[in-house]
Amino acid sequence: MLKEIHLAHTQGFCAGVSSAIDIVELCLEKYGTPLYVRHAIVHNTSIIKDFETRGVVFIENLDDVPDDQVVVFSAHGTAPDVFEAARKRGLHIIDATCPLVTKVHRQARRYSQREVPTILIGHRGHQELIGTSGYVNNELLYVVEDLDDVEELDIDPNLEIAVLTQTTLSVTDTSHLINRLKERFPNLITGKKEDICYATQNRQDAVKELTKFCDMVVICGSPNSSNSNRLRETAEAEGVDSYIVDFASEFDLDLLKGKKILGISSGASVPASIVTDLTSRISNMYPDAKVVQKESIEKGIEFPLPKELEDFKSQQYGVSS
Ligand code: SF4
Repeated sequence: MLKEIHLAHTQGFCAGVSSAIDIVELCLEKYGTPLYVRHAIVHNTSIIKDFETRGVVFIENLDDVPDDQVVVFSAHGTAPDVFEAARKRGLHIIDATCPLVTKVHRQARRYSQREVPTILIGHRGHQELIGTSGYVNNELLYVVEDLDDVEELDIDPNLEIAVLTQTTLSVTDTSHLINRLKERFPNLITGKKEDICYATQNRQDAVKELTKFCDMVVICGSPNSSNSNRLRETAEAEGVDSYIVDFASEFDLDLLKGKKILGISSGASVPASIVTDLTSRISNMYPDAKVVQKESIEKGIEFPLPKELEDFKSQQYGVSS
């Protein structure tokens, strides 16, 4: 019988996601609807559905944005050729790229200016990887997803080679890949640490903590959310049964049969309401199970809004972030 439900101390929205959502909210107020957003602003189904019902149109191709419109670029980052195409069309660009992704873009650009071959570790097809790839000279770009890709790299080992990573990867898997890269390429430039962001690191650490005493971990997160999927894998790698659910209603309560201590966490793009709904559903079935949550280790982290929205916000509300 389930006795305890432990909520990960650090979970849910990161500063990059909060800022991207604020950007869309402020654009809805300032520019009205339809509001065009290129790619899902953040990878969470409930957020996307909510915005869609309020007149946000998510597009992948700029051709789907009519002339003279505002277009918001998603938190995952956008390649320079897309910026260029939008500028040529005269579209009004609002960039919601997380500043921690922008930092990786800057590094990528610098390496290519110095003609340094650049290995980009990430998930092929993920929006962030597509965006960051655009800042690397195509002839200098090597994408690596796993150890097989590392073995297959055909680069002169005597060259100076840079490595950059997607911000939402598994901390453990990425350090294995970088260690192997260091063995293969002695002149590898890694920087002080990989580019995995504070939010990804903190959420994976919090899930690891849960696995020390929980016999199951459930992650709230959408199927296309990289950081949420890494949380489920983090629990699984520690030998604990783990599941990922997009909505509270998706969780099969029968899975809790025979379990005593459950851990719950959520990805960086998941609204707190989904975790609350899941906890309530489980508490309704196991009313005696104690719900435990410690304080988050993330305090007061905020990213600035684009200047025009910062100004709009202070005019409207007399506050700025
Ligand atoms: S997960 Fe990290 S990189 Fe992605 S939006 Fe959040 S803070 Fe930025």
